[in-house]
Amino acid sequence: MRVESLDVAAFTVPTEQPESDGTLVWHETTVVVVEPTAGGVRGLGFTYASAACAPLIRDVLRDTVVGTDAMDVPGAWTAMVTAIRNQGRPGIASMAIAAVDIALWDLKARLLDLPLARLLGMVRPATPIYGSGGFTSYSTRQLVDQLAGWVNDDRIRSVKMKVGRDPAADAERVRAARNAIGPAATLMIDANGAYSAKQAVRLARAFADQDVSWFEEPVSSDDLVGLRTVRELIDIDIAAGEYGYDLPYFAHMAGSGAVDVLQADVSRCAGITEWLRVAAVAAAHDLGVSAHCAPSLHAHPACAVPNVVHLEYFHDHARVDRLLFDGVLDPSEGMLTPDLTRAGMGLELKRADAERYRRAA
Ligand SMILES: [Mg+2]
Repeated sequence: MRVESLDVAAFTVPTEQPESDGTLVWHETTVVVVEPTAGGVRGLGFTYASAACAPLIRDVLRDTVVGTDAMDVPGAWTAMVTAIRNQGRPGIASMAIAAVDIALWDLKARLLDLPLARLLGMVRPATPIYGSGGFTSYSTRQLVDQLAGWVNDDRIRSVKMKVGRDPAADAERVRAARNAIGPAATLMIDANGAYSAKQAVRLARAFADQDVSWFEEPVSSDDLVGLRTVRELIDIDIAAGEYGYDLPYFAHMAGSGAVDVLQADVSRCAGITEWLRVAAVAAAHDLGVSAHCAPSLHAHPACAVPNVVHLEYFHDHARVDRLLFDGVLDPSEGMLTPDLTRAGMGLELKRADAERYRRAA
């Protein structure tokens, strides 16, 4: 059965308020949605990326994919990677391929009337999540309300906050967060590469009594020596990998001793086809994989990978997904469980609701 058509659209949803982390400020989230069809069945995939992905998909990827066998997703993926050679593999091109690849996996699962997790083959029925937000733009009150809400109301046992915008304030914010979530919950922090190695080590020592168990991108993830230096000097686990787009990137990071856990984002690293291989690279280095953001996209593939440790339940994406899609999974007892009664990822675009967010792209 051949892929017959492929539609693409971009939607931009404003944040509730301006948000920031250690190195970026943003006020909206753009979702690029891809819908291929085969045999009268429509698949759905998307990425959180610039709307510039949409014309790239229309101009370069669509003709590459239409006409391929809908059962042979890795074949379509290989053709897409070949087609974008002169555009450069990292960045926009990989995010565009990700949206199409995910949509093709979803389409194949629907054609076979299988949930995507079953098509991939499951190693677990559900994946642990951690609540992720705690933006540097939040007041201390907003910060502690969000983190404590996840722990106390939603029974999510691990939470992550941003640091790095104001180094002088970080230790106090970490202290306030620990105080709000209690001693039993797991507290994680993410500097988004805001610090130098020595700054990061000094900061970690300043909150050494707060039982922080995860320090993400204490320095730029391009600085593998810096990551390894911090990792050797403090006890906290070091994580990075969210800006990985291709296999060599992850192989370098995993092989350099820079991280304790490798992060990988299916909406950036060219989709499910490559994400599964990234997990294999991590496994070869005896590293766990943490799914970066995009909880709706990771729920199914995360259940298919033995060395996945958890999945990031990112505030913005959880919110945007509910505005744009039906079938978004609700966390339960700190886990995200794929709905095995629905084919594919179990998501449907809310066409009428999404229209107000559509952009000309
Ligand atoms: Mg991060």
